[in-house]
Amino acid sequence: MIDKIIITGGSGLVGKYLKRYLPNGIYLSSKDFDLTKEEDVKNMYLSHKPDIIIHLAAKVGGIIDNISKPAEYFTDNILMNTLLLEYARKNNVKRFIGVLSTCIFPDVVESYPMSEEVMHNGPPTETNFSYGYAKRSMAVQIDAYNKQYDTKYQYLTPCNLYGVGDKDDEKNSHFVTSLVKKIYNTKINNEKSIILFGDGTPLRQFMFADDFAKVIYEVIDKEIYDSFNVANIENLTIKEMANIALSSCDAKYLNVVWDKTKPNGQYRKDVSIDKLKSLLPNFNPLPLSEGIKLIYKNYYDKIS
Ligand code: NAP
Repeated sequence: MIDKIIITGGSGLVGKYLKRYLPNGIYLSSKDFDLTKEEDVKNMYLSHKPDIIIHLAAKVGGIIDNISKPAEYFTDNILMNTLLLEYARKNNVKRFIGVLSTCIFPDVVESYPMSEEVMHNGPPTETNFSYGYAKRSMAVQIDAYNKQYDTKYQYLTPCNLYGVGDKDDEKNSHFVTSLVKKIYNTKINNEKSIILFGDGTPLRQFMFADDFAKVIYEVIDKEIYDSFNVANIENLTIKEMANIALSSCDAKYLNVVWDKTKPNGQYRKDVSIDKLKSLLPNFNPLPLSEGIKLIYKNYYDKIS
């Protein structure tokens, strides 16, 4: 019999890409069930009776929103993760794939890139402290369930993601999407410069959401139950990314103005993908320059 797969957060960026790999999954959004509410979580399990849960749903947002609503980022994520996991166990769900974020890692460690083992070697960065701790708690919780209840649940820890269909409002958008939107708007308004937050020195790994969706599909397909980091090989400064984006969007003539009154965020948080490569040796994520060309083209086609 074919496994019944539920994808929470199915209307989000990753969910949209995952549909290409798992077209028969059931993709849920907050309109179907509010996963911060116990009754809704109970009903979700009751009405769908899943064999596998891919838990993508989360309260996710940009740095400014994280700073202004730390309690919501903590409580909503803790509630969703706890309820989803506890009712997965009670309903004998055989696979649970939780999705964390590299925000779970310490603000600073002795050496980079960070392997899975250094997760608990210090507090997450101040700018998304409560989101980082809530996500880190899901790792603790899944490991605890595996120990106590003999489940084979797992978590994947992706770096920053981007893709077509990402939120592009100023408050909640992710860096790459908002960068492409800024470049697009600046070009059509015949302006000469774009303003970016911070000083451009922080390092980031950015991965095309499709590459992450493929990893989720492959862990199911290849029956891999390990928990591991998922990130691009490229680890670039924000300045380098801006230059790649200008080039990929045919906008090299634009000037970048750095707004140093805005926070930089964590200086670096690059993670090791050695474990991922040992499990999935063919992992070959799209270079940022190629991914940006895709979202720029889509953005352009959509708006023009
Ligand atoms: P997203 O686009 O922000 O989508 C979030 C999803 O969660 C939406 O489907 C949303 O439903 C759902 N959701 C939010 N609150 C909910 C609630 N109370 N009840 C039920 N559903 C709720 O997220 P994403 O970018 O696809 O990210 C997927 C996962 O990857 C998340 O766990 C995120 O933390 C993790 N992650 C993302 C990134 C990234 O850069 N995007 C990086 C690292 C890790 P509605 O559509 O109805 O609002």
